[in-house]
Amino acid sequence: MDYASIFAEALETLRTEGRYREFADIRRRCGAFPVAQHFRENGVSEIKVWCSNDYLGMGQNPAVLAAMHAAIDEAGAGSGGTRNISGTTHYHVELERELADLHDKSSALLFTSGYVANEAALSTLSRLLPGCVIFSDEMNHASMIAGIRHGRGPKRIWKHNNLRDLENQLAAYDRDIPKVVAFESVYSMDGDIAPIGEICAIAKQHNALTYLDEVHAVGLYGPRGGGVAERDNVLDAIDIVEGTLAKGFGLMGGYIAASRDICDAIRSFAPGFIFTTSLAPAIVGGALASVRHLKQSTVERIAHQERAERLKGLLRERSLPLLENPSHIVPVMVGDPVLCKALTDALLAEFGIYVQPINYPTVARGTERIRLTPGPLHSDDNMAELVDALDHLWGKLGLNRALAA
Ligand code: PLP
Repeated sequence: MDYASIFAEALETLRTEGRYREFADIRRRCGAFPVAQHFRENGVSEIKVWCSNDYLGMGQNPAVLAAMHAAIDEAGAGSGGTRNISGTTHYHVELERELADLHDKSSALLFTSGYVANEAALSTLSRLLPGCVIFSDEMNHASMIAGIRHGRGPKRIWKHNNLRDLENQLAAYDRDIPKVVAFESVYSMDGDIAPIGEICAIAKQHNALTYLDEVHAVGLYGPRGGGVAERDNVLDAIDIVEGTLAKGFGLMGGYIAASRDICDAIRSFAPGFIFTTSLAPAIVGGALASVRHLKQSTVERIAHQERAERLKGLLRERSLPLLENPSHIVPVMVGDPVLCKALTDALLAEFGIYVQPINYPTVARGTERIRLTPGPLHSDDNMAELVDALDHLWGKLGLNRALAA
């Protein structure tokens, strides 16, 4: 067996399709975001980051940093174990209480990432509920798909945000068969938002549990940062909320919030929760400060929405192909993987602007794009510089301005 050539061929396929991933080696400058240092073979240069999911800049919020330093001083570096074996620190307990309260649930459960939370929770639900059918929105994130697959139960894929299709598919099953309707609030690549209330109403009519991924909404929407379900006043229609500490809250880690029994069951049966070392106290302490801060401060949320609207306006003025949506996400369509990479390479090399190309399988072929994430720390000058560079490169590379129309 020629193992080496199998790997080489697989990688060559990615290269010829223009979707081989190159990671930028960067170090964010604390206190100066969006500025970062870019490390290359021929030296270090300063760049501006336009694709970070630290949407609100909480990754450098002074209260968060102070809490992380304090946790290291108080408790040291790692948690020292799995949750069951010495890894349930007081930081974890407090954060779970805070997250349960954020989503108006009786319990919450921390995981090492949002990906793990989805994988562990959905696969465990599927295995615990006898004959459970999972109804999954067709645009659900890879982590939800992994959890559903891993659960090995029956699944139905419903058309994206399509209430009629959901209703029809649910109606095909007896009321007494356990069901879970799994979907997201803000879809991270198109930036569209699910009609949560309507989806939940249909799910309840058919006696289904509701599972909502609010990864791209927690911290960002709702009066206390509880997500779109909080904003829309439908928190109690959701049985299981899943979120991340890595985006709006600026750290890392994931969680679910739900009833005491659901959390207890997942805590007790999910291998992805049980058999792994828990998050480090500094991470959890920092997240606690971040969640608490965003529960009572709306400054960041207001500035975030204002910055996103402002950038969208500038892109429209230049007739750049913005994919319109009602959220903070700013996708600009390119429609070709090779051109998408050429665009982001030129942005970085010529303008010191860092955006990753978004290619298949993250998005469908032919819908390749850049995904801009403006936040409270991007200034008007940063935006002018970005839009000038995009306008120039759209012309130079012959990119289509009519794509998102
Ligand atoms: N769910 C959605 C919709 C996501 O976009 C992501 C990651 O980007 C995740 C879950 C996973 O979250 P995390 O990055 O915390 O693993």
